[in-house]
Amino acid sequence: MHLSVDIKKNFPGLKLHFDFTLEANRCGILGPSGSGKSTLMNMLAGLLTPESGHIVLDGDTLFDSSRSINLPPEKRRVGVVFQHSHLFPHMNVAKNLFYGRNRQLAGAARIDDAQLISVLQLNSLLERQVTSLSGGEQQRVALGRTILANPRLILLDEPLSGLDEALKYQIIPHLRKVFTEFTIPMLFISHSLEEMRLMTDDLLLMGHGVIDRQEKTEVLARGTVSERGFVNILKLGEAQNIDRLHRRNWGENNLYLVASGETAPGRFQINARDIMLFKQHPEASSARNILNCRVSALRDLEWFVRVEMELGGQRLIAEVVPQSVEELGLAPGVEIVAVVKASAFHRLF
Ligand code: ADP
Ligand code: MG
Repeated sequence: MHLSVDIKKNFPGLKLHFDFTLEANRCGILGPSGSGKSTLMNMLAGLLTPESGHIVLDGDTLFDSSRSINLPPEKRRVGVVFQHSHLFPHMNVAKNLFYGRNRQLAGAARIDDAQLISVLQLNSLLERQVTSLSGGEQQRVALGRTILANPRLILLDEPLSGLDEALKYQIIPHLRKVFTEFTIPMLFISHSLEEMRLMTDDLLLMGHGVIDRQEKTEVLARGTVSERGFVNILKLGEAQNIDRLHRRNWGENNLYLVASGETAPGRFQINARDIMLFKQHPEASSARNILNCRVSALRDLEWFVRVEMELGGQRLIAEVVPQSVEELGLAPGVEIVAVVKASAFHRLF
C-alpha cells in the first residue's frame, strides 16, 4: 500500500491537520479519545469531506481540493469496520456477508468466499439471524462483509473496543489470519497498545488533531498494558553476583535485582506504577536502582499520567498520579531520577 495524506478539517475548538505517508500493510493509529482518529477514518472513507488537502491511495487520487476531486465512498474501495458492526438486522449472516459483494467492481480480483468463511469460522453461522449472534461473532461477520466487497484498504475503527477481554482475544487470531491470508492493507484504530502489538507493524501516534510521530510497533510495544497499568519489558544481560544481588546489564545501564537461581540473560517485567520518581538523587534509599532519566513524553490517562523516559539508550515508562506531575515539574526534556526496588523485577522468560 502507498497512502499519502495531507488534509485539514476544523471543528469548533479543534483544528485537525493530518499529514503522513504510509507504506506498510499493517498500520495502526494509536491515540487518546477525542484526538480525531474516527474523523480521520471518515475522511479517508469519504464519509466526511476535508476542508483542504489531498488523499492519494496507490496512485489514485481519492480527494484533492485543489483539483476539486472528491470520490464518493463507493468509488474509493476503502472498507470500514466500526466498533459496532452495523449489520442488517433483518438479514441472516449469509445475506449480510454477500451484501457488499454485489457492489464489487467488475474486473477486480475476487476473494474466495469459501476460504474467507472458513478463515473467519462462519460456516456454522451462515443461516443464523445476526441479532442472535454474540458481539464477537457479529464483528467477524462485519469483517467478512467488508472483505467480500473487495476493498484495497480496510479501516478498522476500534473494532474490538465493544468486546469484553475474553472475546477480544478470541477474535484477534481471526483478524490476524484474515490479514495475512488475504494480504489486504489495513489501518487499525485503537487506543490499546496491546491490540496494536498484536495487529500492526507500523504506528501513527496521534495527538489532538495531529500525527505526533510515526514508529515501528515493535519499538513502541516493548512493554504491554495490564489492568495495573503499563508493564515495561526489559531485555537484561547475564547476572553477576554482587553483594548478594544480581547485577544485570540493560543497554548502557546496570540494574540490581534480587538474586535468583537463574543467571542467564532474559526478559523481565516492571510495572510502571512500581517506579518512583524523584526530582533529585535521593541521599539514601533502600531501593537499589537509582536511575538518571530524561522525560521524553507525557500521556494523560484518566487516573494516571504515563511518563516516558530515556536513559542510556533505553526507554522506561512510569505511571504517576496527576498531582506528582505538577510537584515534580514533569515535562518533556526534564531530568528526573527513577527509583526501582531490586524486588520489583519479575522474570518473564
Ligand atoms: P476519536 O475517534 O479519536 O476519539 P473523533 O474523531 O471522534 O475522536 O473526534 C475528535 C474531536 O472532534 C472530538 O473532540 C469531537 O468532539 C470532534 N468532532 C467530531 N466530529 C465532529 C463534528 N461533526 N462536529 C463537531 N465536532 C466534531
Ligand atoms: Mg473514535
